[in-house]
Amino acid sequence: MTGLTSDVVVVGAGLIGLATAWRLAADGIQVTVCDPTPGTQTSAVAAGMLAPVTEVEYGEDDLLALNLASVAAWPAFAEELQAATGLSAGLHQTGTLSVAYDVDDAAALRRLADYQRRLGLEVEELSGRDARKREPLLAAGVSGGVWVPGDHSVDNRQAVAALLRAIEVSGVTLLRQRVSHVLTAGTTAVGVQLDNGDTVHAGHVIAAAGPWSGQLDGVPHELRPPVRPVKGEVLRLRVPEAYRPALTHTVRATARGFSVYLVPRPGGELVVGATSSELGYDTRVLAGGVFSLLRDARTVLPITDELELVEAIAGLRPATPDNAPVLGPSGLDGLLWATGHYRNGVLLTPITAQIIADTVRTGVVPELGKPFLASRFGAPKVAT
Ligand SMILES: Cc1cc2nc3c(=O)[nH]c(=O)nc-3n(C[C@H](O)[C@H](O)[C@H](O)COP(=O)(O)OP(=O)(O)OC[C@H]3O[C@@H](n4cnc5c(N)ncnc54)[C@H](O)[C@@H]3O)c2cc1C
Repeated sequence: MTGLTSDVVVVGAGLIGLATAWRLAADGIQVTVCDPTPGTQTSAVAAGMLAPVTEVEYGEDDLLALNLASVAAWPAFAEELQAATGLSAGLHQTGTLSVAYDVDDAAALRRLADYQRRLGLEVEELSGRDARKREPLLAAGVSGGVWVPGDHSVDNRQAVAALLRAIEVSGVTLLRQRVSHVLTAGTTAVGVQLDNGDTVHAGHVIAAAGPWSGQLDGVPHELRPPVRPVKGEVLRLRVPEAYRPALTHTVRATARGFSVYLVPRPGGELVVGATSSELGYDTRVLAGGVFSLLRDARTVLPITDELELVEAIAGLRPATPDNAPVLGPSGLDGLLWATGHYRNGVLLTPITAQIIADTVRTGVVPELGKPFLASRFGAPKVAT
């Protein structure tokens, strides 16, 4: 059994834990990250949309502000990551086209566009013909669209690879071990114990364990955040040379009442997503999920039939009761949450890392992070 010490220990090496570790290391803080399977869970499954506008939901104003701040932070974050590692973070600033298939789909899209405009967001309504001018391979039946210039995408697998390299070059220690429990002394978290019995003592523990964040032993039950797994299946298709680029923008579609999105990558990959079901920690890919994704994709993009099906995979979104993340103090001194990012964890990576790093450095949660404290769920009041 070995005992390490570190200024900060981060539990979980998905995009959130990795970016937070990198930010802290850049501030000269000594960081240890623990994860048995770094970068392979939800962050590797996601489609990588940066979609504050197209994903806006009625009544989620604080989350919208956070999402907009993070999409604005992505270009500098990606540039810095590339400068530090020589690796691309996979950011593609190509805008997003929302399209509707039948008249009911078009009515729903118009209602959403009205709401987006009332919020001051930049959207432009298009006829079906204008939508097809932007994306010529869309189905003739596409009846209308909305152009959203500010929603982009990131190849999340490239971002994970760049962040793994970034923590390495910035001197972060990565331990490929599961945290068995958080170590406490009275009401203070003082480190973690790993499955192999080793310990890491630290002044701060950051819990970034994605959909598993509510299960960390050692954290009193009443302080655990209400994070639950929401399963999502996605497909990765390959576009043959003859059809490239099948799409040049992210396309989000409502096809006969069903939602589907298609996210193109420059190398010819097309990500099609996503299903959503509450089945606990089950990550089996079901035939029905693959069927519905392909059915809806081919309705709006008929050449889907000609594309190679390369991968079908499922991941677990870390969801919370209000669809927003849990950031900052936990009620246990020294333990901070960086979790619950649900459908927007790729988008929220830069801003989360910044908020958590600032909180560690100053002891105060920045204004932008305050609506996302765990205490909003009725957990014991925590100092901000
Ligand atoms: C199908 C699908 C599509 C999505 N599409 C998008 C999208 O387009 N845009 C977007 O912004 N978001 C999207 N998301 C959401 C996004 O993927 C997540 O919000 C984000 O990846 C969460 O990152 P994370 O680092 O918190 O979690 P994860 O990537 O799951 O990382 C958590 C890590 O914690 C580790 N861990 C767990 N328990 C322990 C322990 N006890 N000890 C040590 N380590 C532990 C795990 O091994 C894992 O590596 C999508 C999600 C899914 C499933």
